[in-house]
Amino acid sequence: MSSITPQDQLAGAVAVLDDFYGRPVLSPRCPPVDELVFTVLSQNTADVNTERSFAALKARFPVWSAARDAEVDDIESAIALGGLAHTKAPRIKSILEALSAHTAEPDLGVLDALDDAAALAYLTGLPGDGPNTAACVQLYSLGRQVMPVDTHVHRVARRLGVIGAQVTAEQAHPLLTEMAGPGDAAQIYAVHVDFVRHGRRICHARRPACGECPLAGMCPSAGAY
Ligand code: SF4
Repeated sequence: MSSITPQDQLAGAVAVLDDFYGRPVLSPRCPPVDELVFTVLSQNTADVNTERSFAALKARFPVWSAARDAEVDDIESAIALGGLAHTKAPRIKSILEALSAHTAEPDLGVLDALDDAAALAYLTGLPGDGPNTAACVQLYSLGRQVMPVDTHVHRVARRLGVIGAQVTAEQAHPLLTEMAGPGDAAQIYAVHVDFVRHGRRICHARRPACGECPLAGMCPSAGAY
C-alpha cells in the first residue's frame, strides 16, 4: 500500500508543475468588484478574450454605477468580444445592482469585516455567483486563503488521486484549501494556477496528453483515457 498521502501527492505535483510552467506569483490584481466582474467574464472564455471584453466594458462604463444603470443590451454589446455575452450581461447588471443596496457605487467593502466563510456565503448569495467565482474574488483580489476550484482544478486533482473520484467541485474547495496549506495564500494560488494551466494545456477533459505530461510518473490515471 502506498504511504503517499493526498497532501504529499498535491505538494509533489505542484513542485513539478512549478518547474514545468514556472512558479505562479500571487499579487492582488484589482479591486473586488472588478475581480468579480472579471471572473464572470472569464467563464468558458479564453484568457485573452476575457481581458479584451473586460477592457471594453471598462472603457464603455468607466464607473460600475454606469453599467448598473445601463440597458442590458448596451452591456451585452460592450462585452461581445468575450462570448456568451447574452448570458453574462444580465448577470453583471444584477450583481452590480445587488452591490449597490447601501452605496451609490457598487461596493464589496462589506467583505473587510467578514471572515473567509462569511465572505464566501455573502458572495455566493449574489445573483448567479457560485463558489468558484466567490473564491476567485477572495484569493485573487483580497489574498484570502481560499482555493477556487474550477473544472480544470477539479479534474486534475481527481486524476492525480489528490481527492476522491466522487468528490464534487464544491466539496473540493475546503478540502484542497486545507491540503494546500491554510494560511498560505501563495501556495493556494500556485496550486490553483498550476492545475488550471495543466488542465488547459495537457490534462484535457478528453484525451489528456499523458505522453507529454511531467506528472505521468506519479499519476494513477496516466494512460487510462
Ligand atoms: S498523466 Fe495524464 S491523467 Fe495524469 S495528470 Fe498527466 S495528463 Fe492528466
